[in-house]
Amino acid sequence: MECKLNMDFSKINNYIFDSDGVLLEEGKIIAGASELTRHLQAMGKKIYIFSNNSTKHPETMRTHYEEFGISVDGVINSGMLVVDYLNKQKIDNVYVVGEDGFISLLRQNGIEHHEGDVQAVIVGMDRNLTYEKLRIASRKIINGARYIASNPDNSFPTPRGLEPGAGSMIAAISAASAIEPEIILGKPNTYGYNFIVDKYGLKRSETLMIGDRFETDILGAIQSSIHALVINTGVAKTRENPGKYGEYTASVIENLSELLAKTS
Ligand SMILES: [Mg+2]
Repeated sequence: MECKLNMDFSKINNYIFDSDGVLLEEGKIIAGASELTRHLQAMGKKIYIFSNNSTKHPETMRTHYEEFGISVDGVINSGMLVVDYLNKQKIDNVYVVGEDGFISLLRQNGIEHHEGDVQAVIVGMDRNLTYEKLRIASRKIINGARYIASNPDNSFPTPRGLEPGAGSMIAAISAASAIEPEIILGKPNTYGYNFIVDKYGLKRSETLMIGDRFETDILGAIQSSIHALVINTGVAKTRENPGKYGEYTASVIENLSELLAKTS
């Protein structure tokens, strides 16, 4: 594959990495990840993780990375974006279709999850999804609760192949209620990129997003005026033209070792 990568890495001071398929694969570190992040940090660059995965608490993700020798300047997941949005909307009573890490993050931030009268239904990936949860969620939405979702990923890659992601849960609840979410906060929505830029005071022209999924990681970065680079691992590896999506194109890099070489 031709790589016409003419980005000036000396001008990039903030590296935002997607997690799954870029730094991690099935919970294990991808070769070269800790070497690359140490190299960038030695040059004074900042490292952030931006994941659409809402199932884990961001602090659990940070600890997981530290166990692999990667310390980062910030971990942002779609669960944190949901918290931010709910705070702004003054919503503190919700019914959640999601996993324990997500529910505990909401609780920590003063947002209660229960089956009584709620202001909103929150939908994220839930590997313990049941008919009863679908029934309660869609009933509440039909009865007027607001409907807010964490991220649109229909599936995610595993060694067994693609498996259902949050988008599949959203599709089921939208079908049952005949109502679509008012917002889906994770990538590619520009909400998260703006959140990171504001939270850490980053300059967009000095910030680069590296991801394996064009329709989320890269599209959102382009629409947020942040530099973007597709890495040909994870989901990108399964695609014919990983650097192309509709009218958009982005530079492609083969792996983290190539990025290490380019930034040296
Ligand atoms: Mg990914």
